[in-house]
Amino acid sequence: MKRVSIFGATGSIGQNTIDLIARAPDDYHVVALSGGRNVAQLAEDAIKLRAEVAVTAYAECLPDLRAALAGTGIEVAAGEAALTEAAARPADWVMSAIVGAAGLAPGLVALQQGAALALANKESMVCAGPLIMETARAHGGAVLPVDSEHSAVFQALVGERIEDVERIIITASGGAFRDWPLEQLAQATPEQAATHPNWDMGQRITIDSASMFNKALELIETHEFFQIDPAKIEAVVHPESLIHALVGFRDGALMAHVGPNDMRHAIGYALHYPERRALPVERLDLVAIGQLTFRAPDEIRWPALRLAREVMAAGGLAGAVFNAAKEQALDAFIDRRIGFLQMAEVVETVLDRLSAHAGNMNAVISLDNVRQADHLARVTADDYMRNG
Ligand code: NDP
Ligand code: MG
Repeated sequence: MKRVSIFGATGSIGQNTIDLIARAPDDYHVVALSGGRNVAQLAEDAIKLRAEVAVTAYAECLPDLRAALAGTGIEVAAGEAALTEAAARPADWVMSAIVGAAGLAPGLVALQQGAALALANKESMVCAGPLIMETARAHGGAVLPVDSEHSAVFQALVGERIEDVERIIITASGGAFRDWPLEQLAQATPEQAATHPNWDMGQRITIDSASMFNKALELIETHEFFQIDPAKIEAVVHPESLIHALVGFRDGALMAHVGPNDMRHAIGYALHYPERRALPVERLDLVAIGQLTFRAPDEIRWPALRLAREVMAAGGLAGAVFNAAKEQALDAFIDRRIGFLQMAEVVETVLDRLSAHAGNMNAVISLDNVRQADHLARVTADDYMRNG
């Protein structure tokens, strides 16, 4: 029996993970499930999967969670410390699917226990890629990509040598505003941005897809995950979202990963790695699909891509600053305090302001330093949004 924990169990990735695990209940012992405010879902799944412990990230949600699980024998806990305590419980496989920088600490703790970490939380890689990889190495664990593009690259690299890789191309759907006239983007609302042409995902990543901040994070994630020179990493707009990534080798071959828009593929690959097992995903009918198309990403429409290049060039804590500024700007957009195009402006301003002092970005990538950079970036973003 594989011992598994799922952080962010109530979210889109978490629910897809639970779907796979619930299909083979005898194969898994569920150690910990975590959620945020969706206590009813967390309790339902904890009972269904007979989890040892259910943790909500928020202390104020604990009474409801306790009530929902009374008499079941399932432990309950709340808060940040409880999340890391749950991550320290021995498990073979841990899904990191909390959204945002909050996912970093539990993932690191799971790696310190030697678990295989299935990483959906791309923010961890953006904020602290070297720390994540080093922690996995030091404790004999593994980091398995769950982001569809990175899972695709990972699969294309099986049996290959990284020295033979000439380029990595990750695809982008282009998000909700791919075909909008540029002049309308300033008026785009959070509701419009939160609809995705191809994928069904959480609200935040869907809006990040429309702004291309998601792809920007993924460029950095690719660089960190595969230790590959940023100049070899490209993003291309592929509206059908069926090719997730391509790896180009020195002999000119391109290995493409093609699959349906269903995160259960990448999650299942990470769950069963290094084996492949049957998965309940659609089989593509290529003739019905007919054609796959590609376009160059427009850096005027999507300045986030340019910012990602600047972050990779800067290195150090620039990723943590970038991610935190983006999270803050996204909150402000969702609350209608800033417009859609202002998100990139906020992030660029924060990067500029903080890079003026080398100490802000050049410190060693430790959890404490990442937290400090994250905090400073949020304060700087808020100050800019309030006072200019
Ligand atoms: P959702 O918003 O659907 O779910 C987020 C999860 O995190 C929920 O369980 C939520 O709890 C919990 N959560 C939210 N805030 C906090 C916090 N501060 N502390 C602890 N837990 C918290 O997100 P997704 O599932 O879409 O995405 C999860 C991660 O996976 C993100 O990093 C995303 O970029 C990545 N990813 C997602 C993909 C997708 O298809 N959805 C594809 C590739 C990557 P609750 O809802 O109970 O409040
Ligand atoms: Mg992705």
